[in-house]
Amino acid sequence: MTSAADVIVIGGGVIGSAVTYYLSREGVKVSLVERGDVASGTSSACDGNILAIDKMPGYDSQVTLKSQQLLTELTESLDYDIEYTQRGSVLVVEDENQEQVARDWFARQKEAGLPMRYLAGKEVFEDEPLLARDVVGLVECASDASLNPMAFVYGLVDTARRAGAMVHPFTEATEILRDSVGTVCGVETTRGTMSANKVVLAAGVWTPAIAASVGVNVRIEPRKGHILVAERSPRPARRKVQEFGYLLTKFGGTEGRNVEAEMDRYGIAMVFEPTEHGNFLIGSSREFVGFDRCCNHHVLELMARRALRFFPRIRDIHVIRSYAGLRPYTPDHLPIVSPVPTVPGLYIAAGHEGDGIGLAPITGKVTSEMILGEPTSITTEPLRLDRFDQ
Ligand SMILES: Cc1cc2nc3c(=O)[nH]c(=O)nc-3n(C[C@H](O)[C@H](O)[C@H](O)COP(=O)(O)OP(=O)(O)OC[C@H]3O[C@@H](n4cnc5c(N)ncnc54)[C@H](O)[C@@H]3O)c2cc1C
Repeated sequence: MTSAADVIVIGGGVIGSAVTYYLSREGVKVSLVERGDVASGTSSACDGNILAIDKMPGYDSQVTLKSQQLLTELTESLDYDIEYTQRGSVLVVEDENQEQVARDWFARQKEAGLPMRYLAGKEVFEDEPLLARDVVGLVECASDASLNPMAFVYGLVDTARRAGAMVHPFTEATEILRDSVGTVCGVETTRGTMSANKVVLAAGVWTPAIAASVGVNVRIEPRKGHILVAERSPRPARRKVQEFGYLLTKFGGTEGRNVEAEMDRYGIAMVFEPTEHGNFLIGSSREFVGFDRCCNHHVLELMARRALRFFPRIRDIHVIRSYAGLRPYTPDHLPIVSPVPTVPGLYIAAGHEGDGIGLAPITGKVTSEMILGEPTSITTEPLRLDRFDQ
């Protein structure tokens, strides 16, 4: 098979699908190449939160706010039910030790323009009546939302296909091809050669392996996370709830967090997400254990114990399944959305760690703008690939 397109996108997760969607919308002829089915990597082994609350105040949270706005527009344009709801989210402040750090965090985010509130005393239990009675506060972000991540990918791909995108599932990219002067000219795949003079590498944690085929070093590592799925039940929480300590497991540090060493070892922090169908998801864990995607029962047990500490009433609700996925981690917690300076025509859109579902709209839009040579919707300097060389 030999086929030609303007742009080849490698990877049919949420990021590659969003890039394909935004380019196709502009009339660009795109081929999306995915070695499994679409949404078969991390984008099907995650939660579906669209959160600004857990971003670093500043660039990180501003970019997320922009992505949240784009997502609101997307829910109108995608002809697909992605189970989108915008109920806001809260961070639970566990005790007095955490209170000052949480209030400082809240103040910085609010100053940066996030729609936030700090709830204390009885307001906490008016908001979430089933929370453990000893917690002392909640930080709320009203713009936060959630959706079904697999449905989101299907919606993006379906809509892109209708705009003319060619989607090639079960087609593995084996090599990025270059012409005699080193410019990208196509991709070798398990189903033949495809030509295009622009290629976007959006293969999540597998991005470094493909980039290495053209001598490019990409600083992305798999950071494993587990999820427990609970049976349908009356909602223990009305919206997304996570412990404030989640920020420590995400960004590093344990100060002010009152957990046993074993919980710290596996980066356990309570994340609780009700779904539209009445089930709820419980996270979270964070570990660097290579590409292993099997569930570790010890980690699942620790996660369940941590969830019970905040929601004692879920003790009798059954867990019906569990899974694990690999977050594409970068050392500074920001993704890479960038041209590759040493390989003209090659772009990278990967490394979104635990935020790829929420950042997919802005990533897709900005990558499309870069390829079309248009001004980008956000400053992309902090997302450059070569920032790690400096
Ligand atoms: C437990 C957990 C919870 C999470 N919760 C959230 C959350 O609530 N909100 C949020 O925003 N984010 C969350 N994330 C993070 C989010 O899931 C990821 O950031 C996002 O899914 C990454 O998308 P991606 O498209 O970059 O990667 P992927 O979804 O992994 O897609 C990459 C694709 O590339 C394909 N591929 C690889 N090699 C090749 C090749 N050679 N040729 C062709 N195709 C190839 C793979 O098959 C894969 O489908 C969570 C992650 C985990 C693990």
